[in-house]
Amino acid sequence: MHILNKEELRTNLDKVIWNIEKARITVSEHHIVKLVTVGKYTPIENISTLYELGQRAFGENQIQQLKERMSTLEDLPLEWHMIGSLQKNKINNLIDLRPSLMHSLDSISLAQELNKKLLNKNQKMFCLLQINTSKEKSKSGVPSEQAFDIFQEIKNSCSHINLKGVMSIGANTQNTKEIQKNFEETHHIYQSLSKDGAKICSMGMSGDYELAIKCGSNLVRVGSAIFK
Ligand SMILES: *Cc1c(COP(=O)(O)O)cnc(C)c1O
Repeated sequence: MHILNKEELRTNLDKVIWNIEKARITVSEHHIVKLVTVGKYTPIENISTLYELGQRAFGENQIQQLKERMSTLEDLPLEWHMIGSLQKNKINNLIDLRPSLMHSLDSISLAQELNKKLLNKNQKMFCLLQINTSKEKSKSGVPSEQAFDIFQEIKNSCSHINLKGVMSIGANTQNTKEIQKNFEETHHIYQSLSKDGAKICSMGMSGDYELAIKCGSNLVRVGSAIFK
């Protein structure tokens, strides 16, 4: 991917924001959707330019890249999201970065390890439980049938994890009906967890964010549609 100029990025960002606006209005005037732009494929220059255009929240899926970008751009008031699978041997690195939100808590054992290390460092972390509604082997996340119980268990046993909701990745298919079914399932689980403090339903990427919003997503993670 290449460096885009400000006008190109403005065009792409405006288009995504406008599409989000149209989709969210079909849900409700009060349905507010947060945009996290995913810079993982793009040169860091595009992130600074996007900041100049008003974007604040950025996501990365690799600890090393997250770390480099956070430190290079540390003078900018950005919000950083970890959206990729976390290996257990990188937990301390993530904690030290103090991300705004960790989207990809994908097992009880990862939650327990993370909690233990947060305790050691006397820190807390906002996290989402990743659910694998599409059941694709290539995707991480807890099975949807167990998501409700696992959410409760993490909530009750991990004092230093502040569990704020759920995250899911749409099925890797052209079949919109199937993607929609997965999003609806994730949203259903999210709603059942609202009394337990779930406030964020993170779903939707470049190919399916409008559909995700119509299914109730209130946070979309968009990369290639902006940095193309
Ligand atoms: C890469 C990535 C995105 C963004 O994907 P695009 O299709 O480029 O918008 C969103 N979420 C996760 C977890 C990702 O890894």
